[in-house]
Amino acid sequence: MKVPEAVPATVPDAQGSGLNPMQQAVVDTLGKSPDWVPLPTSVVDAVRTMLHDQLAVVADRFSRNNALWVSKNKLTTIHGCQAHHMATKDNFAWTPLTARGTVLHKAVELGVHWRGESTPVEVVDEAIARLSDSSNSVADFLISMTPGDAAQLRGYAVDLYTRFEECFPKLKPSWRPVTESSARYELFDGAIVLGTRSDLTLGTADQKVIIDVKSGGLHTSHREDLRFYALVEALRSGMAPRRLATYSLAAARADVEDVSEGVLQAAVRRVVAGVQLIVAIELDKREPTRSPAAHCRWCPLNDSCAEGIAFLSRDEIDD
Ligand code: SF4
Repeated sequence: MKVPEAVPATVPDAQGSGLNPMQQAVVDTLGKSPDWVPLPTSVVDAVRTMLHDQLAVVADRFSRNNALWVSKNKLTTIHGCQAHHMATKDNFAWTPLTARGTVLHKAVELGVHWRGESTPVEVVDEAIARLSDSSNSVADFLISMTPGDAAQLRGYAVDLYTRFEECFPKLKPSWRPVTESSARYELFDGAIVLGTRSDLTLGTADQKVIIDVKSGGLHTSHREDLRFYALVEALRSGMAPRRLATYSLAAARADVEDVSEGVLQAAVRRVVAGVQLIVAIELDKREPTRSPAAHCRWCPLNDSCAEGIAFLSRDEIDD
């Protein structure tokens, strides 16, 4: 197998490459070691069988016309706090805060192909203009946002894009960078659908690196998110990705995991457990449990939930 141009196996040192230390660290982190070998397709087949077998008992609760969509966010909330999951499952709203990641990803996409010099403000403004004129669900918000929201969003996105440029080497088209890359895997004739949208992928399908870019710090749950992405990509393509990386722009640091059979099996177990919980709570109306943690800070129930109030008051004292 050829060494991918996308993520060099060996890289020059920072002084010779023209990369700053943060950019050099990204190249080092994502690079492929010479002895890397892809997971055999038999591993992907075994994981596929495991997932199908373990979901078979709940599959008839859904149909192609009444499908269960399983996303990263759904798994995070159902495994985080079941009451929070129920309170937010149909309640997504675009705001400058929730739209900034979408604008960043569009700006990154434009930056890859931008000819000549550009400033972050130019690229971000172009990204907002193009998203406003697209079929993306954020378009309505961008068109109708107040001048205050527009200024806030621009500020957030310029900050993120500036830090992205500082931290990442210039992404070459030959590295096959794709932003907001969607992947989907359907089970049981479309009754259950696993869907992902990766912030950034690099490399060809047989050795893909999936990258989640975070504005804040790193958290253990981020690794679970990327394992789900790896599972969907492996099931969709029949080829396991090579590496997963959550990159914190705040810390200029990546949490990295190579994709193994164990990683894919762990993702299957989390999906199965999440689907079983969704069936129990959403369909069978089992009383959702409450699990206070950091997510209480942005939970819509946090002014009425006793557990959340107690956690947040303790959290403030701890802070
Ligand atoms: S406030 Fe916290 S414990 Fe209460 S429902 Fe929300 S996330 Fe759960």
